[in-house]
Amino acid sequence: MRPIRMVDLQGQYQEIKQDVDQVIQQVIDETSFVKGPMVSGFERDLEKYLGVKHVIGCANGTDALQVAMMALGLKPGDEVITSNFTFVATVEVIALLGLTPVLVDVDPDTFNIDPAAIERSITDKTKAIVPVHIFGQCAPMEEILEIAKKHNLFVIEDNAQAIGADYTFSNGHVAKAGTMGDIGCTSFFPSKNLGCYGDGGALFTNDSELSEKIGIVVNHGMKVRYYHDEVGVNSRLDSIQAAVLKVKLAKLDEYCDKRRYAAEYYTKAFQLCRKLQTPKQESLTSHVFHQYTLRLHDVDRDGLMKHLAEKNIPCAVYYPVPLHMQKAYQDPRYNEGDFPVTEMLSKEVLSLPMHTEFDDEQLAYITDAVLEFVNQ
Ligand SMILES: *Cc1c(COP(=O)(O)O)cnc(C)c1O
Repeated sequence: MRPIRMVDLQGQYQEIKQDVDQVIQQVIDETSFVKGPMVSGFERDLEKYLGVKHVIGCANGTDALQVAMMALGLKPGDEVITSNFTFVATVEVIALLGLTPVLVDVDPDTFNIDPAAIERSITDKTKAIVPVHIFGQCAPMEEILEIAKKHNLFVIEDNAQAIGADYTFSNGHVAKAGTMGDIGCTSFFPSKNLGCYGDGGALFTNDSELSEKIGIVVNHGMKVRYYHDEVGVNSRLDSIQAAVLKVKLAKLDEYCDKRRYAAEYYTKAFQLCRKLQTPKQESLTSHVFHQYTLRLHDVDRDGLMKHLAEKNIPCAVYYPVPLHMQKAYQDPRYNEGDFPVTEMLSKEVLSLPMHTEFDDEQLAYITDAVLEFVNQ
């Protein structure tokens, strides 16, 4: 059996090696390493795939979030509401910009931000909501967009984990994750569902004025060369990364299907085991399984992780510490016990290997090993 990896980038590369090597060589031959036709070509491809008017590349997903908040003109003192159960990037940029992060709890079954908790947290200083489409499934965007409209708030989607996912509104309209709010942000970190071979990120918007603003912010606050109208940043997607992404974007739907196949395999194997709570899917099309995350009931998580490690099966806890309990983000407004769902999840969750290159033998080996420990 091939070794089991949390994310099998080696196996995936072998399948697309010829195309990837060729486009990377093309960039080197053209010596157009920053901006240039490969980057704009990828941006146009991604606009078409997502059905969004503007895609603007940048250096990474964290920058995308920061640039979004700068482009929307958020100012120190403004409150930004986001999920407590997520990767640190969102609160990091909120803190760096001098904004005030307002954390809210999540749904215990989907792990996504809870709209009722958002509404309870709105004050007259609130300016934006940042829903995170956690683990590959869209947050309840219909409710979130309604709340935002009612209170005149911006919505910035953190789509680092759900590129390619669909969201279906109650009127039947289907939209791609990241295209529903004012701005969508994504990451092309290698292990993401659409990952490059280094760092990369992008912003999406349907608003042409905002798109122009984003283009200025990522480029040193400069519209006309060497005339700086505002303070910006230097955040670019480089051409070699764009070239890799162009090749992989053409396979994204196939990659999503492969992740769904693995997820279905896991869920089928675990469905009769009451100690393992499998991920809840709001609908099949809206989940692209960036992670396959179980909730463990009455299972010694450390023991299970050790058991899997002994069988050379990687696994991980996303995320072990809620943001309000992180040293860097301690805040007198928040105490242990304030976010019961997030705190419970941080103790119960376990993510299994998830990628595009499994065979059934590997999936059977993983599910057998989990059940062996849990049922002992
Ligand atoms: C990965 C990730 C980011 C940050 O992306 P980088 O490209 O690593 O900066 C932001 N938010 C979420 C939810 C992520 O998973």
